[in-house]
Amino acid sequence: MMKTMSGGNCTLNVPAKNSYRMVVLGASRVGKSSIVSRFLNGRFDDQYTPTIEDFHRKVYNIRGDMYQLDILDTSGNHPFPAMRRLSILTGDVFILVFSLDNRESFDEVKRLQKQILEVKSCLKNKTKESADLPMVICGNKSDHSEIFRKVRSDEGENLVSSDENCAYFEVSAKKNTNVDEMFYVLFSMAKLPHEMSPSLHRKISIQYGDTFQPKPFRMRRVKDMDAYGMISPFARRPSVNSDLKYIKSKVLREGQSREREKCTIQ
Ligand code: GDP
Ligand code: MG
Repeated sequence: MMKTMSGGNCTLNVPAKNSYRMVVLGASRVGKSSIVSRFLNGRFDDQYTPTIEDFHRKVYNIRGDMYQLDILDTSGNHPFPAMRRLSILTGDVFILVFSLDNRESFDEVKRLQKQILEVKSCLKNKTKESADLPMVICGNKSDHSEIFRKVRSDEGENLVSSDENCAYFEVSAKKNTNVDEMFYVLFSMAKLPHEMSPSLHRKISIQYGDTFQPKPFRMRRVKDMDAYGMISPFARRPSVNSDLKYIKSKVLREGQSREREKCTIQ
C-alpha cells in the first residue's frame, strides 16, 4: 500500500510500512515543543508559545527508499481525553517529557506511561502480540542549576529499568545537550533507520510549489548522499477518521506479519 501526499505540485509515495508516528506527551511548559523544534530545525526559542496540538511531517530518502515520520506535539492539558487516547493509539514511538525542576510534571509522566501501556495493551489483545513500545522519558531543562532539581536521576532511571524498549535521558533543549543522543537511541529501539536522527542526514528544504520527485537531475545532485530529509511544508494533522483508519490498517498489518512469521517458523 502506498501513501500519497499531495499539496501544490508535491506528490510523495511512501510505503505504509515506512510511515511512523512519534507522539510527544507531558505537562505544559516542560519543553515538548522545544525538543521538537531542536529535532526539526535545530533551533531554540526562549519565548513560550502554548501548543494546542502541532503536527509536523518529515520525509526522508534513505539509500533510495522513502520514509515518513509524523510528529504529534500535544498540549499539556488535553481538554478531550478521547483525543489523547486516539493520539496514543496512533503512536509508534513516544517521547514523554517532564522538567527536572518540576515534581508535578514528573508525576504526570508516570501517569502517562501507565496510560500508554493500558491503551496499547487493548490493541495488543486485538493483535495478540506483545506490543513493542519504544519510549523515551526525558527530564528536560538539565541546564538549570542543581539547586532547582526536584527529581533525582535514579527516580527517572527507575521508570525504565524493567523495559528494554524504554530509556531515560536528561536533556536540555536550550543548550542542545543529549538531544541528538536521545533521538538516536529512540530510533534504535524502534528499529528505524539511524539516518532519521537529526545529525545523520543531509537536510534539504523545498518551497511551496516545488516538486519533490526523484527526477534524474535531482538524483544527480544528491547522488553522493546516502540519506536526505526535508520537513514537509504541506503537513496537516490527519482527521480523526484517518487516524481510525490508520489504526485499523496497522492492526491488520501486524496480524498479517504475525501470520507470515508463523508460516516461516513452522
Ligand atoms: P511545552 O509547553 O512543553 O511545549 O514547552 P515549550 O517547549 O513551549 O517550553 C516552555 C518554556 O520553557 C519556554 O519558555 C522555553 O523557552 C523553555 N524551555 C524549554 N526547554 C528548555 C530547556 O532545556 N532549558 C530551559 N532553561 N528552558 C527551556
Ligand atoms: Mg508546546
